Amino acid sequence: MRRSRAAALAVSLVTLGSSVGMTGCSTNATTGRSQFNALSRSDEISLGAQLQPQFVQEMGGEVNDPVVTGYVARIGQLMAAQTEGDNPSLPWSFTVVNTMQVNAFALPGGKVFMTRGLLSEMTNEAQLAAVLGHEIGHVTARHTNDRMVNATAANVLGTAAAIAVGAATDSSVATDVAATAFRTGGNLVVLKYSRDQESEADSLGMRYMSRVNYNPVGARQVQEVLKRVSGGKQGSEFFASHPLSETRIQRINEELKKPPYQAMVDNPQFRLGEEEFRQNVLIRLAQLPPAPKEARLSPEAQAELALAHAGCGNNHGSGMACAK
Ligand SMILES: [Zn+2]
Repeated sequence: MRRSRAAALAVSLVTLGSSVGMTGCSTNATTGRSQFNALSRSDEISLGAQLQPQFVQEMGGEVNDPVVTGYVARIGQLMAAQTEGDNPSLPWSFTVVNTMQVNAFALPGGKVFMTRGLLSEMTNEAQLAAVLGHEIGHVTARHTNDRMVNATAANVLGTAAAIAVGAATDSSVATDVAATAFRTGGNLVVLKYSRDQESEADSLGMRYMSRVNYNPVGARQVQEVLKRVSGGKQGSEFFASHPLSETRIQRINEELKKPPYQAMVDNPQFRLGEEEFRQNVLIRLAQLPPAPKEARLSPEAQAELALAHAGCGNNHGSGMACAK
């Protein structure tokens, strides 16, 4: 009996693998790491495309100023074009949303969001490039995929334990594994990026911004801006999804002291772009009507939203009802 359950589990794992689009391992062109693909490339693209309008709507809509939105999108696209492998061909978009939350997000497949609140706290283009580059890094390193793999692996272990004590019958194993994996797969959206992933995104942001000649010192300036905004507390919205730590700032500082960044910090070819930022962002934002109050969704609410729709975005197995 035990053996047949083990066999059933093995079969169910194969089923699960195909049902969530696990297409084996590949080497990530950005990080050089071998990565297990819980999400295929087309899964990522359709997930991002499906969730993007919902995110924009829930976060107060796009900021109604073509100068600001065009400027942010141009800088984002400039860096996206400098990413590795097939990443430049992703359907990248960079949307400025009309909320005073201080935050930035990325969805798999190249959908990046920058809030009006964060934009209005920054003082130059290099800081903007650092934040956009950081979010681009989450996409190119495929951090959501990795969270999903971890969540699924943890869940499969839990299911195996349940089977061992006879909590599941053979016939329902595959369904249980798949259903639980999807729930867990949904929950991963609520999970924050790990500290390692945040550090990696910081490094990738510095890589991308410097490739288009922004001074990488902007990456440190952004951390200083965030520190000021938070008033030294971790309560601000940004920190809920992007934990700030002295370790993280120290890491950026150490990178700035080493090649290739060391030679860029005092090199005028690597610009900060203060005046451009003032003209294209700060002056324009100050003239806009205030952001709508209802757009101030908590990060938890946004995560819930993503969670509710993540299953729909994948749309693999049949009979899997969406929560919303
Ligand atoms: Zn991040």
